[in-house]
Amino acid sequence: MDITLSGLTLLHQPDDIIEIRSIDPKPVISGYFRADSPAIAHEIARYPNRTFYQTMNPVKSACYAREQHERLVERPRETTSDNDIVGYQWILIDADPVRPSGVSASKNEKEAARRVAGMAMKKLMAMGFSEPVVADSGNGYHLLFKIHAGTEERQVLSDFLSVLDMWFSTDAVKIDTAVFNPARITKLYGTVARKGASTLERPHRQSSIIRRPADVKETPMALVRNIAGEKQKAVPTSENPRLRSSNAFNLDQFLSDYGIQVIQKVPISSGMKYQLAECPFDPSHKHGDAAVFAYSNGSFGFHCFHSSCASYHWHEFREKVDPDAYVNSPRTGSQSLAQPAQRGSDVSPAPQPGNSAGPRMLDFAEIPNYDRSKIIVVRSRFQALDNRIGGFNRGEMSVWSGGNASGKSTLVSQIGLAAVTEGCKVAMFSGEMTASRVREWVLLQAAGPDFVMQDPLSPNHFCLKPGIEQKLDAMLTGKLSIYDNDFGTDWERVTNTIYDWVRKNGASVVIIDNLMALDIPTGTNDKYDMQSRIAKRFSAMAKELNVHVHFICHPRKTEAFLRKGDISGTADLTNVADNVFMVHRVNADFMMRYKTVYPKLVIDQDVSTVIEIMKNRDLGVVDEIIKLYFDRRSRTLSDVKGLPPQHAWTEKMEQITMQDFTVVDNAELPAEWR
Ligand SMILES: [Zn+2]
Repeated sequence: MDITLSGLTLLHQPDDIIEIRSIDPKPVISGYFRADSPAIAHEIARYPNRTFYQTMNPVKSACYAREQHERLVERPRETTSDNDIVGYQWILIDADPVRPSGVSASKNEKEAARRVAGMAMKKLMAMGFSEPVVADSGNGYHLLFKIHAGTEERQVLSDFLSVLDMWFSTDAVKIDTAVFNPARITKLYGTVARKGASTLERPHRQSSIIRRPADVKETPMALVRNIAGEKQKAVPTSENPRLRSSNAFNLDQFLSDYGIQVIQKVPISSGMKYQLAECPFDPSHKHGDAAVFAYSNGSFGFHCFHSSCASYHWHEFREKVDPDAYVNSPRTGSQSLAQPAQRGSDVSPAPQPGNSAGPRMLDFAEIPNYDRSKIIVVRSRFQALDNRIGGFNRGEMSVWSGGNASGKSTLVSQIGLAAVTEGCKVAMFSGEMTASRVREWVLLQAAGPDFVMQDPLSPNHFCLKPGIEQKLDAMLTGKLSIYDNDFGTDWERVTNTIYDWVRKNGASVVIIDNLMALDIPTGTNDKYDMQSRIAKRFSAMAKELNVHVHFICHPRKTEAFLRKGDISGTADLTNVADNVFMVHRVNADFMMRYKTVYPKLVIDQDVSTVIEIMKNRDLGVVDEIIKLYFDRRSRTLSDVKGLPPQHAWTEKMEQITMQDFTVVDNAELPAEWR
C-alpha cells in the first residue's frame, strides 16, 4: 500500500507537533508526530481503508509525550483539544456539497463546490487576502489561508466563516461555519475520502493539495476582522418597531410588492439568503451577485459582491427600493416631506413630529429613540481608525490639521479614494494644486505600490505602469470630481459649486483642502469670524446634503507638539466639527516630544505618520493614536505594515486567472510534499 502524503511540510514547520487521527469507523485512532516524521506514512499504511485527518494549527509540545507518541494508537485516552493548541496558523474554508449524509459527492456536486470555492478565493484575494493553498478534499474543496493569530481570536474566525457562509453558500454547496476552533482537524491530504460505498456515481476519491502559491504569505488579521465585522453590521439593522406601524415587516411581501425578482432562496446558518436576479443599485450585477438576508433573529441585511456596492447594507437597499421607506418616521418627518428631492437627514437634530410650526417642548416619551441603524457610515478603510470611531458618519464634519508635510493632504485624499472604493461619490477642492496635479497624485495613490514604477525619464519620480491609467479612469470617472481652480478660489463660489455638484450627483463625501486656500473677500476685517462662518457653512452642508465633509485646516504655528488649540481660527472651528484629527509626521522632533503627552505610547521605527484623534462626538473617542506606514512610491499610507490599500481592486481580480483551479503538476512540487 503506497500512500502519497501531500503538503505536510507545506502546512507545518518540519518540527511542529501534529496529531494524525481517524474517526470513522470506530474506534478512533490517533498519533502525535513531528510533521516531517517518516513514521507517519509508515503508520497509516497499517490502516489502508481509513480516512485520516490532521490538526491544522501547531500543537503544544507537551502533547507529544502522550501515549500515542510517534505511533498510531486505537482508542487513545486523549486527543487534541482547543487548550492544546499554541495559536492559529491556518483558516480553513471548506466548500462542501449538500448531499445525503454518509455518501461521497457526485461529479456535478463536486463541480458546484469548485465554483463556490473559486468564487470565495477570488473575492477574498480581491479584498487583499494572500493566495491560499487549495486542496481537493475528495468531496469538495478547501482553501487554506495562512494567518498568525492567538487562540483568543476564535470569535473573529467564527464570525468570519458565518459571513462567508452568508456571501457564498448556495443551495447546493455550503461553506462550513463550524471549522473555526483552534483544534480543528482537516484531511490528511493524500488519503482517500471514504464516505459510504464507492460507486460509479459517487466514488471514493483521493484528497490532495492541488494548488499552492509560489510563496505562502500570511494574510493580515486586520483583513479577517474586516470581514468578520460585516456580521455585526448585518445584524443590528432590524426594522425598529417603534418607528414603523404595528405590523411586522414581511420580507417576501416587500420584495414582491416592489417587483424585486428573487432567483433562489438559500438557507444559511444564520437564516435565509434571497439571491436577487439583479442588483437594485446596478442592473449589470446579475445572477445572484446581490442578495438580501433575513436573519433568524428577525433582522435583515443586504450584500452585493461588487466593490461599487460595498457600502450598501440593508438601510440603503430598502430606501433604494422604496424611497419613502424612512420618510414617515418621526425622525425625518416634516423636513423630508417639505423637500422630497432631498434625502431625509436622518442624523440631523430631530425635527419634531406632527405639524406644529413654532418652537415647543417635547414630552420625554414622545422623543423617538436615537436609531443607530440609520446612520450611514463611510469607512476610511484604515481598519485601526474605523474600529475606533466606527467610520465617518454622513451628516458630519471632520477637521484635519497637522504641521507642514505632515501628510494630512495625502491622508485625506486616500480617505476620499477609500470612499470611492466603498461605492461613494466624492467632491474635492484642492486649493494649492491645479486639478492636473491632483489627478497625477490621485492616480498614483489609486494604483498603489504594485502598479507604479520608476519613471524612466526622471528616476526620482514614480509613474503608473503601462495600461493602468485607463483602468483607473474607468474606476474613478463619475465617482471623483475635483473643483477647477481656474475659476478662482473665492470661498463662496467654491462652496456653491461643490454644493450644486453634490446635490445633482448624490455624493456622500466632500473634501476641502484647505481653509487657508479659500479666498475671503478683501476688506473682511475679522478673519477669524469669517473662518468660523465658513466652518459653520460646511457643517451645515454636511447635515443638509447628508455628506461627510473632511475639512483640512493648517495650524497657527508649526513647531512644537501641536494641540487642538493650535488649529487656526477661533475655537468655533473645532467646536463645530464632529471629529478633530491631528496628523503628525514621525520625525526626530516628534519622537522627542510625544512622550510628554503620551508617556506610555510606543512608536516602532517603521511608523511614518500618526493620526491623533482629538475629538469624536459620536462615540466620545479622544486621545487615541493610529499608527500608519508610508509607501513613498505610490504615496499611500497603510495601517497594516506592508499591506497596500486595495483601491485598484479590479486589477487584483484580473490577476487571478485560475479557471478556477488547475491541478498543480506534481513534477513542479518540491519532492518533500509531492
Ligand atoms: Zn451591486
